[in-house]
Amino acid sequence: MNKDIATPKRTKDILQAHGFSFKKSLGQNFLIDTNVLRKIVDAANVTEETAAIEVGPGIGALTEQLAKRAKSVTALEIDQRLLPILSDTLADYHHVNVIHQDVLKADLHEMISERFEKEEDLVVVANLPYYVTTPILMKLLEEKLPLRAIVVMIQKEVAERIAAKPGSKDYGSLSIACQYYAVAETVLTVPKTVFVPQPNVDSAVLRLSLRSAPPVEVKDEAFFFEMVRAAFTQRRKTLLNNLVQHFNAKKEKTNVEEKCLEAGIDPKRRGESLSMEEFARLSDIFVMKYGRELGK
Ligand code: SAM
Repeated sequence: MNKDIATPKRTKDILQAHGFSFKKSLGQNFLIDTNVLRKIVDAANVTEETAAIEVGPGIGALTEQLAKRAKSVTALEIDQRLLPILSDTLADYHHVNVIHQDVLKADLHEMISERFEKEEDLVVVANLPYYVTTPILMKLLEEKLPLRAIVVMIQKEVAERIAAKPGSKDYGSLSIACQYYAVAETVLTVPKTVFVPQPNVDSAVLRLSLRSAPPVEVKDEAFFFEMVRAAFTQRRKTLLNNLVQHFNAKKEKTNVEEKCLEAGIDPKRRGESLSMEEFARLSDIFVMKYGRELGK
């Protein structure tokens, strides 16, 4: 059997043999460090019972390490040029399926129900293309797929924002959007040197362990997220100013100050100091007063 794909030498040989040129627009930064890849697979707790879904297999560096441990690997790759390369590099792994697909356009519920059993131990593991990290993660979370965990290599700053706690400079609407669906933790940070070509930013491995139910119950999810986003519009402004501006822009008359006080929250606080529970309480007070109209 060949040596691991993820070594500088083998990666170079594969790319050369196939005359492959990187497309920056597709976020193609391939991993060339087998140790880092093993740590990603460890972080996802992949066993022979696990069915792994990978986004963007590239030339198969991570796919191969997943295939060594998982029951199956299903990989979605947008770049048609990589398909013949993958059927070559992964020829020895018969439980790997590569699908030519843009993950953002994929019907993942349909794919999962067609390919996997109901109680399958399902995880998404990926070295994500940086240009679409947030849309991909939000799609995986918001669609409420039957996943145990999502373990992804992403830009370090984005990982820190997602895993941030209230009161920290990184805490914002993205932290709340992700932590509503999952417990978020950064498990590893890696230097640029483990990729080819090297990106401009450092990276981190983020683990999202999906919750069976959100940590807060809200009356109107869409309105809850709208209010959270509004509270962080201008980070230096108070909750009061951001929310007043938001409702004015929507031409909705409401007494924000009164609602904050009713929720037991000082309207002069900044969004970044509010916990998810406080946002939930506040959003429910708005919804109760105005019914469903306000969330629209
Ligand atoms: N997994 C490989 C590795 O670790 O070496 C490659 C990772 S590279 C950062 C991202 C991969 O995602 C590329 O192969 C790229 O073509 C693919 N990709 C980019 N956008 C995609 C999309 N919307 N859907 C599926 N794959 C995508």
